[in-house]
Amino acid sequence: MGGERIGVYGGTFDPLHIGHFRIAEALVEAFGFDRLFFVPASVPPHKRGVEISSPHHRYAMIALATQNSPRLFVSPIELEAPARPYTIETLARLEGRYPGADLFFVMGADSFAEVNIWRDYEQLLREYRIVVAMREGQEERTDLAAHLTPDLHAQVIDLRGQKRPREGDFGTPHIFLTDFVLEDVSATQIRKAVADRETIDHLVPRDVSSYIAKYRLYQ
Ligand code: ATP
Repeated sequence: MGGERIGVYGGTFDPLHIGHFRIAEALVEAFGFDRLFFVPASVPPHKRGVEISSPHHRYAMIALATQNSPRLFVSPIELEAPARPYTIETLARLEGRYPGADLFFVMGADSFAEVNIWRDYEQLLREYRIVVAMREGQEERTDLAAHLTPDLHAQVIDLRGQKRPREGDFGTPHIFLTDFVLEDVSATQIRKAVADRETIDHLVPRDVSSYIAKYRLYQ
């Protein structure tokens, strides 16, 4: 320990919404991240078949939304990768760029529920700290880690009830369950609202809303 503490929040972000944004702010605060990178995926393997906005748009919206937040960043690392990378490869590349940093990979509870089908998931969960953000409706579930091997299951630290992590828990492996922010919002809901000509101003950061209107996304 002692290196930079970096949060890595991967996703499609089509678009970035207040759920993503407020969770990121809360985790920076609670875990003391020096920075948190939103990492838009080039095309997430499990979303093939769904039409996804160009990476430029998804990247630009994150850049706009985070420009006044000193610790929130967007990283092009997956967009620059030659082939579509898996999460474990992205984390290894980020480690190369930030030697000595402690990386915390952030995911929603719905993603975590199927993490056991991810490439090299056991290695991912053993080598990196994982922060799971509850989604509305999943916060009450008792055993969110029942799909993990017993040794990984034993590494779960349940911080639900807005408990803060302890410095002594920052080694690997550790899987933190958190519920600092519960926002019942999804990118699917936003795309649909735009198509239906409904306002999305309360669902996305302000600059994201004006960007979507200006470039006529999701119409
Ligand atoms: P879509 O509706 O297009 O599937 P999404 O809203 O789930 O999108 P993604 O870009 O797929 O957004 O999400 C990136 C990550 O953020 C995933 O790990 C997802 O579980 C998590 N996430 C998204 N929205 C929320 C939310 N409201 N609360 C907690 N986690 C969330």
